Amino acid sequence: GNLFEQVQLAPPDPILGTALAYKADTSKDKMNLGVGAYRDDNEKPYPFKVVRKVESQIVNDHSIDKEYLPIDGLAQFNAAAQQLIFGKDSSAVKEGRVITSQAISGTGALRIGFEFLAKFYNREVLVSNPTWGNHHDIIKCSGLNFKQYRYYNPKNMSLDFNGMFTDISMAKPGSIVLLHACAHNPTGLDLTEDQWKRLAGLFKQNRLFPFFDSAYQGFATGDLNRDAYSIRLFTELGFQLIVTQSFAKNMGLYSDRIGAFHLVCANKETAAKCLSQLKLVIRPMYSNPPAHGARIATKILTDPALYNEWMEELSMVSKRIIDMRTALKNELVRLEVPGNWNHIVTQIGMFSYTGLTPEQCDILINKYHIYLLKNGRISMCGITTKNVGYLAAAIKDAVV
Ligand code: PLP
Repeated sequence: GNLFEQVQLAPPDPILGTALAYKADTSKDKMNLGVGAYRDDNEKPYPFKVVRKVESQIVNDHSIDKEYLPIDGLAQFNAAAQQLIFGKDSSAVKEGRVITSQAISGTGALRIGFEFLAKFYNREVLVSNPTWGNHHDIIKCSGLNFKQYRYYNPKNMSLDFNGMFTDISMAKPGSIVLLHACAHNPTGLDLTEDQWKRLAGLFKQNRLFPFFDSAYQGFATGDLNRDAYSIRLFTELGFQLIVTQSFAKNMGLYSDRIGAFHLVCANKETAAKCLSQLKLVIRPMYSNPPAHGARIATKILTDPALYNEWMEELSMVSKRIIDMRTALKNELVRLEVPGNWNHIVTQIGMFSYTGLTPEQCDILINKYHIYLLKNGRISMCGITTKNVGYLAAAIKDAVV
């Protein structure tokens, strides 16, 4: 008999599904505004030049073998990743209270993070409404329950800080709160430094546990240090916390699956015990991580000349995104599209939360071959100097 006859066809992933639909579309006007991967002004993927250079060094270095990495990955990578996110002078790092494990990019870091919490800190999780859709599924996999806190005010397309503060203040003391370190996905709305400080006060008062997801360091402001502000603030204030870090976007290493998991503990002794337990989480999951991405990132992070090349490319890339924000807003204003489009330029990071309704999104997709998420999120990376006019005209048609 058919052993799997009862298996139902699953719906496609909403984000990766748009990429497939785009690929299958034969229109010459098609635009891919779904997936969050950088494109150049010719709509082509952009492998960082510094990555290409380092890769050829690695390939030609015959002293590098293919042995397994340790369960927690490449030690030099972990040290460099720690420094990038916590800063050179982090007292928590100096005190040996931070444990770090290489991870299968940001998603893998989130996965081991929530597995670890489910075992050793089983509390309710709060996530922003909205958030990156995969957060919900990852938390469910761990068996933890989650609730949402307000984040976005659709009326004025801005951050609902008061709603956020109120909802988080009502969480049970000790709850886990998932925060986007910068460049919130999908809204592109971040807290100000002052708001982060007020939030930290609330976390102290209610003994909340901060869990920072950092997938866009360098993509928010173009400055790696500024984009780590929230994490460094909470760490300096003495919080025990988690950071999940991805190099997919800021080094363009999407398919190399390179990231890190960090846990800041109360002291060195607890940190050592937690690392030993984290390894027990990882070992039956995937045994140990792949080496290639870790080797690339380590070379770039530890060689000052390569680091500078990376900085230059990263600022070029983040500048193109900011330029496309201005270009889109200007076109919408020039075409006199009804509505206020200021949020396109004030939002931060790879995405813009346009405020378009699902019906308006359908018009863009079906009539104009412009692929975006039904929640109105567009990836700014798919916009170029050549197609921005077409996009603005299509938005005008969808809106009026
Ligand atoms: N977290 C957020 C908010 C993201 O947007 C992403 C990627 O889109 C990730 C984590 C993880 O990405 P990756 O697993 O490719 O590092």
